[in-house]
Amino acid sequence: MTTDTSIARLYLMQLSTTTVPLPGGRTLEMVLVCYLIETNEGKRILIDSGYPADVPRRADGPPSLNQKNVLEHLAELRLSPDDINMVIATHFDVDHAGYHDSFKKAEFVVQREHYELARAGHPRFAAARGHWDHPDLRYRLVDGDFEILPGLTLLETSGHARGHQSLLLRLPNTGPVLLAIDAVILERLFTIERKGSPMDDNEDQLLASTRKLLELVQRERVQLIVFGHDGSQWANLKKAPAFYD
Ligand SMILES: [Zn+2]
Repeated sequence: MTTDTSIARLYLMQLSTTTVPLPGGRTLEMVLVCYLIETNEGKRILIDSGYPADVPRRADGPPSLNQKNVLEHLAELRLSPDDINMVIATHFDVDHAGYHDSFKKAEFVVQREHYELARAGHPRFAAARGHWDHPDLRYRLVDGDFEILPGLTLLETSGHARGHQSLLLRLPNTGPVLLAIDAVILERLFTIERKGSPMDDNEDQLLASTRKLLELVQRERVQLIVFGHDGSQWANLKKAPAFYD
């Protein structure tokens, strides 16, 4: 990829929807998602790959609807797994890394701290390990914030997990876009008053990462913030096969 590379398109891929019951009769719409970026030179970058087909969902959990896996989404765009040049792994939770081993032509990019934690056998990342820790996959390990391509920056956002990463990208018409991933899973949590959840590894780091992203949104004049699992927000976003440019 040359110095003339720029980011041309962002596709939001909604993989499934779940209505989670809350106390008091309320509900929360949660989505599982992944993303595809295309450069002006036709390179394709996948961000995460979704929940694996071979790991059962919790039998006592609410059903997941509207299921379409990453391969089906790509096929709808007339793409095969070998058309993906790079996969950015935000972290190895089961709902984010379940199809990594489908992309054997791609270079995988992950934060070194996260890769080493997961490879050392942390039980949290075991469920999809057969998919992300596959001998055919080539990993490139990065440390901290890093502009991986012109207009595409990895942001180290530990807290949900050590070495979790979010992304900032610059689109020609939309402008700067922040993909918060699981640093901020719901729009209402994008505040310095937030708390962590039992799914988060370290609340202090989570708050520091939230503050970092809030400051970045101001500084970079971010035009669109996409939250990691927010079904209410995603209902109003443009989703694949439509795209942001
Ligand atoms: Zn997640």
